[in-house]
Parts: sequence; C-alpha cells; structure tokens
Amino acid sequence: MIRINENYTKLKASYLFSDIAKRVNAFVAANPDKPVIRLGIGDVTEPLPQVCVDALHAATDEMAQRASFKGYGPEQGYAFLREAIAQHDFVARGCAIEADEVFVSDGSKCDCGNIQEIFSEDLRLAIPDPVYPVYVDTNVMAGRTGANVDGRYAGITYLDSTPANGYVPAIPSVATDLIYLCFPNNPTGAVATKEQLAAWVAYARENKAIILFDAAYEAFIRDPEVPHSIYEIEGAREVAIEFRSFSKIAGFTGTRCAYTIVPKALKAYDAAGNAQSVHALWTRRHTTKFNGVAYPIQKAAAAIYTETGKAQTKALTDFYLGNAALIRAAMQKLGFSCIGGDNAPYIWVNVGRDSWEFFDLLLNKAQVVCTPGAGFGKCGEGHVRISAFNSRANVEQALERIAAALK
Ligand code: PLP
Repeated sequence: MIRINENYTKLKASYLFSDIAKRVNAFVAANPDKPVIRLGIGDVTEPLPQVCVDALHAATDEMAQRASFKGYGPEQGYAFLREAIAQHDFVARGCAIEADEVFVSDGSKCDCGNIQEIFSEDLRLAIPDPVYPVYVDTNVMAGRTGANVDGRYAGITYLDSTPANGYVPAIPSVATDLIYLCFPNNPTGAVATKEQLAAWVAYARENKAIILFDAAYEAFIRDPEVPHSIYEIEGAREVAIEFRSFSKIAGFTGTRCAYTIVPKALKAYDAAGNAQSVHALWTRRHTTKFNGVAYPIQKAAAAIYTETGKAQTKALTDFYLGNAALIRAAMQKLGFSCIGGDNAPYIWVNVGRDSWEFFDLLLNKAQVVCTPGAGFGKCGEGHVRISAFNSRANVEQALERIAAALK
C-alpha cells in the first residue's frame, strides 16, 4: 500500500493567499459594481524593462538558427550570467564571490525551499516570525518539526520580530544549526544594519551553523549604510548562503530567474564531525534535480547588468518605492506606526487590532486588499502588510478610499 509523507499532514490547512483570495472572491461576487484594488500579494505589476525584452527577442532569434541554437545548457547557468552576477552584485561591492559560486535557477522560492535537503534531518532550526512561509513549510515537509500547536511548530526556535526590537530579531540564547534571515524583509520591510548582521555571522561561526540569507528585495535598498549582501560582513563566506532573485528588480515573477550563492569556503559536518563542502553538495543536488534556466531568460537577466539595464531597473524599483513612500505617509497620517517602504516594497502597519478584522474592514469599506499579518506568523498578529506593487493611480485611489473608510 502506497503511503503518503505524513509530514504534509502537519502543514496548516490552507495557504495564506488562498484564504485571502476566497474572501476577496466572495466580496467581488456579492459586490460586482465595486472594483477592488489589490495591495496584498507581492507580485509586480509593471512590464519587463526594455533591455530585457530586447535580449529575449535577440536570444529567441538565436534559437531559430541551427548555428546559434542552444539545447541543454549548464545546470548552474551560463558563464556569461554567472560572471556578470559575481562581478556586478558582489565584487563591485567588495565581496569576494566567484562565478562558480553562483547557481542560477528558476526562482528563489525553489532555492530557499530546496536548500534544506542537503542538511541533516535532525538539525536545529531558527526561523523568523513573521516570515515568508516557504522556510517553515519546507522544513515541516522534511520532517524537522513536530505538530503545529497554537500557530507554532514544535522544534523551531522562532526569531520574534516585534515593535520592541524594531522588527529585527535578537540572536537566540540557544545554539541552532540552520538560521533563516531575510533582509530587506518580507513581510515587514525591515532592514538589518552591518552590526546586526555581523552579530549573526559571529553567532553562526561560534555554533558551526549556517545562515540562509534571503536578499530577494536587495534592489530596493537606498540607505547607503545598509548592507546589500551578507558577504559584506567579514567571515560570512564560511557560514552563509545567499539567495537573490530577478523577480522584483526586473519584473521576472512570470519570467522566472534567480540565483543562489554557495561559497566554496562553506562547510557543514558529517556524522563523524568531518567538514564537508556545502558547495559540492549543492552542485550535486542542483545538477541532479535541475536542468538549467532557458537560454533566452538568462540572456534577459544578464541584460540588467548593462549600463542601460542598470538605469532601467533603478527606474523600476524607484517607481515602486515612490508608491511605498505614499502608502507609508498616508498610513502614518492616519495614526498608525509603520516600518518598511523606504528600503523595501512592503509597508508593515501596526494596526493595533486583529489583523484579519482589519483586512475585512479595508476590503468591505475601502475595497482594498492588504495582507493580514497573522498569516505570516504569531508575531504578525496586530499588523498588516501593504504592498507597493501596483500602478500609481491605483495606489493613490486606494489611499483615498482607506482614508475615507477609517475616518
Ligand atoms: N524570498 C522572498 C522573501 C520572497 O518574498 C519571494 C517572493 O515573493 C521569494 C523569495 C521568491 O522569489 P522568486 O520569484 O524568485 O521565486
């Protein structure tokens, strides 16, 4: 008799965004004359930068000719993209990352979900709360947790992000082995300072642990003091993996391209306590289970590293940050304390009441969709996430409606 992976039964019944979709669909069905503005799910709205479109067209033409046609490419990505990433995203910022430490993939969601496979089943986890749900759920699926009791899984050290700590979690008092960090943060929009990241690197080194640093929103950092990469911290090459995505910097959510940095200096330990190369393990995993990102997509991704590409992606992220500034100012004017929105496309609003109740209020009275903080974890209760991914006109209209509804 075929048996299921019982760990899946521990997962919380429904996924946050499907719960939201159900409520929004019910509202739309009951109120067909009231157009809803969605500032909930973190998908982009603006089209691909022109450099990416041009590169896609040119690469497609190459695929049409026998002489330039490409079949399977290298699983880890073409050298032209790996080299551009290492040079522009790391070496240019003083981080010693080499092209063969870059693993190109079809998304950070897959990468930060898959990476846990190469580590032991009985490791000790540290995961932020609130959090991008993929980190928790993939570890539940892998059997690293107990049951979910009162919104928390047994076996996880939760890293609370609260108003009291400025939404940047403190170093835990216990030892852990695999630590997830995300800055600029989804959902809070908080960023970590160099000193804060240095403390995490020191903790990881002390505990022979590994930090999984999710920098999917790196392109939104504007404060010159905020580190863009964990590798700006000395000693991080030995204890950190970094995830980056083209989804938000260049509108690739539907185009799909991302990458993961696994430094060759990174070690994890076998049962006998011998150090093993994490780079070798991830190479084995990636080349066994993944067959590379499409050539035209990699060409489109590489185009963002040209001078024109840099200007176009900066304009794109500036546009969303302009929306974010409007949202944050409007919510603050209504008396809410907020963080995020200055170095991130999300504004985390402390609404001081049940987050689903506030979600329903905005939906019913303003026809605006936000994301209830409780969906991101226990510490998300009392907050909502408002996303800056929308047109300026929609953001302005949504803010007018929210102001009228909350008067
Ligand atoms: N990491 C975080 C924190 C995210 O918010 C997202 C997407 O919303 C991802 C990773 C996934 O990015 P990708 O589109 O590359 O799969």
